[in-house]
Amino acid sequence: MSVEAKITQPSAERVVVAGRVMPEFHHIGVEPLTGACGAEVTGVDLRKPLSDEVLREVMLAFEHFLVIMMRDQDLSIEQHKAFSRYFGELTELPQAPTYAGQSDMQEVRREAHEPVSVVPFTRFHTDSPFLPRPPLCMVMRAIDAPRYGGDTAFANMYLAYEELSDGMKETLGRLRVVYSGKDIWSKNAKLDKDKQLRLRESHSFSEDHLESVHPAVRSHPRTGRKALYVTPAYFKHFEGWSPEDSRSLLDYLAHMPHKLQYQCRIRWKPNTVIVWDNRFLQHCGIHDYENERRHLVRTTIIGERPI
Ligand code: MN
Repeated sequence: MSVEAKITQPSAERVVVAGRVMPEFHHIGVEPLTGACGAEVTGVDLRKPLSDEVLREVMLAFEHFLVIMMRDQDLSIEQHKAFSRYFGELTELPQAPTYAGQSDMQEVRREAHEPVSVVPFTRFHTDSPFLPRPPLCMVMRAIDAPRYGGDTAFANMYLAYEELSDGMKETLGRLRVVYSGKDIWSKNAKLDKDKQLRLRESHSFSEDHLESVHPAVRSHPRTGRKALYVTPAYFKHFEGWSPEDSRSLLDYLAHMPHKLQYQCRIRWKPNTVIVWDNRFLQHCGIHDYENERRHLVRTTIIGERPI
C-alpha cells in the first residue's frame, strides 16, 4: 500500500484494540494500555456527579477495554460509593475483609512487615465465582502503593476463548463448573498463623450462597460475546467429572490468562482508581516488592447470573 493510500484511509475506523474496532470518544480522553485490554481515562473528576455525555463514554470505555484507570482521584468513602453506583448495585462479600467499618467496602492490604500470604490469590483468578451472582465489576482505589512493583495484571478472557480451536470451544460450551467457597475458613484455620490469609471474620450469607454451578464459557448478556470462565480459585470440579478427571483440563485452561498477548498491567499510585470487569477478565496482584505498604480499597458491584 502506498503512503498516500494509508493517509486517505479513515484511520479511526481501522483501530482495532481489545479485539474490536475502537469506539470514538469526544468527551473524555481514552488511551489504551495494550492491544489486549485496559485504558487510561482522562478528563474526569470522580468526586462530582458525571454529566450524561461523560458517563456514557466512561461506560463505553469500560465495556470496550474491560478495565479503565483514572489517576489522581482523591475520593471520600461517599464519593467512591456514588461513582460505583453508576455501574450497579453494591454488594457485600462473605470472605473479603471490610474497609473502615463499611460492610459494602473491602480492602486488600499488605503491611510493610507482612508476608505475601496475607493476601489471597496471587495467581490469575476471577473474584467470588462461588456466588449465584458473582461480581460484575470492582471499583478500586489505591491509598498506599509501593514505589516500584505491586502492579495488578489483567487478562482478557474473550480473547483467550476466541483463540481456542472449534473442538475445544464445543467441549467447553457443554461444561459447567462447581465453584465453592464453603471451606475457605476451615482450610485457613488449619494453616500456621503466619501463613493464614486475612479473611472476613463474620458474614450473613447462607450456605447455599457459597456454592454455585456456572457455565465454563459465559456470554455478555447484551452482546452475546463469549469468554472463558474457568479459574482454579474456588474450583471444585466440572459438573459430572471427578476432581481427578477435572484436574488436567483445569490446569490447561488456568494457563490461558498467562499469555502476554491477552494482558495489561496497572501501575498503582496513591489515588489511582480503576474499574474492572470481573466477568470477562481475570486478574492477579503481583507481589514483587518488599518492606512497603500496599493498601487498595474497593466496592463490589453485583453481576447477573452467568449465562
Ligand atoms: Mn482478586
